[in-house]
Amino acid sequence: MIGGGLVGAAVAYGLIKQGCQVVLFDEGDKAFRASRGNFGLVWAQGKGAHLEDYAQWACEGVELWADFAAKLEAETDIDLELEQNGGFVFCPSEESLKERAAMMERLRKVCGLDYDVMKPAGIARYMSGVSSEIPGAIFCKVDGSANPMKLLRAFHAAIALNDGSLRREAQVERIESVSGGYRLATTKGSFTCEKVVLGAGLGNVKLAESLGVRLPIIPMRGQILVTERHAPVLTVPSENVRQTRDGIFLLGGSWEDVGYDTSTTFDVTSDIAALAIRYFPFLASVRLVRSWSALRILAPDNAPIYDEIAPGAYLVTCHSGVSLAAIHAAKIAGWIASGGFPAEMTPFKLSRFDAPEKQARVAHA
Ligand SMILES: Cc1cc2nc3c(=O)[nH]c(=O)nc-3n(C[C@H](O)[C@H](O)[C@H](O)COP(=O)(O)OP(=O)(O)OC[C@H]3O[C@@H](n4cnc5c(N)ncnc54)[C@H](O)[C@@H]3O)c2cc1C
Repeated sequence: MIGGGLVGAAVAYGLIKQGCQVVLFDEGDKAFRASRGNFGLVWAQGKGAHLEDYAQWACEGVELWADFAAKLEAETDIDLELEQNGGFVFCPSEESLKERAAMMERLRKVCGLDYDVMKPAGIARYMSGVSSEIPGAIFCKVDGSANPMKLLRAFHAAIALNDGSLRREAQVERIESVSGGYRLATTKGSFTCEKVVLGAGLGNVKLAESLGVRLPIIPMRGQILVTERHAPVLTVPSENVRQTRDGIFLLGGSWEDVGYDTSTTFDVTSDIAALAIRYFPFLASVRLVRSWSALRILAPDNAPIYDEIAPGAYLVTCHSGVSLAAIHAAKIAGWIASGGFPAEMTPFKLSRFDAPEKQARVAHA
């Protein structure tokens, strides 16, 4: 297994549970690591706007979360801070509220995802301090949040507890096909294995190249702001603002196509803060303590890619590693362990981008 972020670690954990012997290589802090810089939403709403099978997959993914979390927590004694009491996407104008409601209605038909269109009075039942001036929001009750750093720590702990091997600071530089499997050239020596899983986020681009496969994934920067602690006011998260269990607010959500640049910028952080204050005016007097940026791993249609790119070499990459953690540990691991590609995953194969027009990037829904 290559990549110890949320995707690679979820699959490694699942494979171990399927009885596979797993060695997990992780490059470390030099690499891009979205798993350590994300917003922590466990989210279905809006996913699959450009690939409907993804809507179904994402819904199933969040439905599996509570059971999956209970098991992982019992095994590791790490509280994942899962809250799944619903979540909001605010709409800045009446027109965007209408458009979003139409999209949610399409998704409801695809996967039965229930939603409500709410006006400020309805939103205020879940969130004190919300502005009465905003047009409204979409509420989806399966959505929620978890602590992504604790999730990652729990995966790593469970892998170790179940006799998996986690090799930190071990970058895989090249994958070579050899008789009976693959040889991985790593910064800590070479290693041979029967099957290899590419779960290395943006690092997959170079790894796939060593097998002659071009991946159409790109980085998409997101900046996040962190405030000081505050008394609890938000009982559920929204896509732009959430309050963690220890009281801090996370403000976020920029989508910036700026290559591999991980800096934070004043123009974007100011916009993020201004939007958060528009939705929650009281935030104007809450102090910011820090900001960071991280790079999303995006396919042109924002959906995951799951494929066997060479016999016994599996590619797993997605934008929603928190939301899909449970389904990755269950179904992706099941596929790799058994070798049979499940029909429900066919829409996520790499070949969907073969036609040049399919490589055009869609907007974030
Ligand atoms: C700002 C932001 C907000 C987000 N918010 C959410 C959210 O709310 N909910 C959600 O579900 N998702 C969210 N995401 C997406 C989520 O963070 C990612 O989908 C997820 O972290 C991807 O995990 P990964 O393991 O594929 O990649 P990464 O976290 O990037 O991990 C890749 C790992 O592979 C290792 N690696 C790379 N190359 C090599 C190599 N050659 N050899 C060995 N190891 C290697 C690296 O060390 C790294 O640990 C967000 C992302 C961003 C950037």
